[in-house]
Amino acid sequence: MREDELREIRDAVRKLCEGFPGDYWRALDREGRYPSEFVAALTEAGFLSALIPEEYGGSGLPLSAAAAILQEIHRSGGNGAACHAQMYVMGTVLRHGSQAQKERYLPAIASGELRLQAFAVTEPGSGTDTTSLRTTARRDGERYIVNGQKIWTSRAEHSDLMILLARTTARDEVAKRTDGLSVFILDMREALDSGMTIRPIHTMMNHATTEIFFDNVPVPADNLIGEEGKGFRYVLSGMNAERILIAAECIGDAQWFIETATTYARERQVFGRPIGQNQGIQFPIAQAYAHMRGAELMVREAIRLYEAGQNCGAEANMAKLLAADASWEAANACLQTHGGFGFAEEYDVERKFRETRLYQVAPISTNLILAHLAEHVLGLPRSY
Ligand SMILES: Cc1cc2nc3c(=O)[nH]c(=O)nc-3n(C[C@H](O)[C@H](O)[C@H](O)COP(=O)(O)OP(=O)(O)OC[C@H]3O[C@@H](n4cnc5c(N)ncnc54)[C@H](O)[C@@H]3O)c2cc1C
Repeated sequence: MREDELREIRDAVRKLCEGFPGDYWRALDREGRYPSEFVAALTEAGFLSALIPEEYGGSGLPLSAAAAILQEIHRSGGNGAACHAQMYVMGTVLRHGSQAQKERYLPAIASGELRLQAFAVTEPGSGTDTTSLRTTARRDGERYIVNGQKIWTSRAEHSDLMILLARTTARDEVAKRTDGLSVFILDMREALDSGMTIRPIHTMMNHATTEIFFDNVPVPADNLIGEEGKGFRYVLSGMNAERILIAAECIGDAQWFIETATTYARERQVFGRPIGQNQGIQFPIAQAYAHMRGAELMVREAIRLYEAGQNCGAEANMAKLLAADASWEAANACLQTHGGFGFAEEYDVERKFRETRLYQVAPISTNLILAHLAEHVLGLPRSY
């Protein structure tokens, strides 16, 4: 997308975010509440349906637009984690769903009538090793019966629909461990009445994440996405978009930390002069700025390849790695610049600090990105 068009989107998002300042996010954080008003405003403005094609009621925008939206939310001091999954999870239905599934779900998601915020992949016993997941979906006539447990299924309490990855053929009955997994679009309102239980998990930041138990939950066979047994591939096919969008959020966080730190360093007087006059304060911020700009270039390169339909696996992973490191470095510089006040709730620094720490671990940890680069780019032996 052209720079001037992206600028218009950024301006509009920034304007919307002005209605949700620091004290809004602070109160939510304190009370562990979900930002329903913010998500409703984003939906109404059409930002959450950016990637849904126009024929299904969305804006049909490219990934660069979605990245700009999420980056600006984070740059303004907010947090896109409350709703970002809708942008990339929807892609599973769009790319692999049947025509009937697309017509049934995408317009309702675009209008905000249905929320697709939950993406249930991780399990307590599998973690990063996705293919060893144990939740099963057993075919029983015109339905599947789901049993098992998911963990870290974020936003489940605020979602109508869930994309679920479950095993339909036992691991010892398939040739490759990536076979035998299937993706379903599950209507959570029905499942809550028929054996599904959601339990919130309280974390160091306000993330609305949960664990979910499935006890003989029936799912209509019509809700299987694509072919049975090919689900792992479908989930993987959405990973590059996810990595790029999360990287854009990290860049937005880094910008917020750098802007907040420089403003404070100019204003705070110690020993009769602004603390920003000291190189010990300037240099960590300048270093974080340089690293943020470098990471931003990698995000752009990953987007360029993605939008050109080329393989961007390495670049999407590096964008996520570098951007997450840049946001964490900027967070540390910002906290240090604020001295004791960095720990006070009212400055928002400690909240953003906790929020941005997550990206070193989720949705993919730094180590696993390094392992991917080592194996797939550098040709080193697989380490796991
Ligand atoms: C707040 C939050 C929200 C989340 N939301 C979702 C969600 O909506 N849906 C979902 O499905 N999941 C979600 N996740 C799960 C997230 O994707 C996982 O936490 C992440 O993939 C890591 O898995 P794990 O926590 O089981 O860590 P583990 O796999 O147990 O790994 C633990 C540590 O060991 C390291 N490690 C593991 N194997 C290797 C190796 N071979 N080489 C080097 N290091 C290794 C990892 O890097 C990590 O640092 C969320 C997690 C959090 C914390």
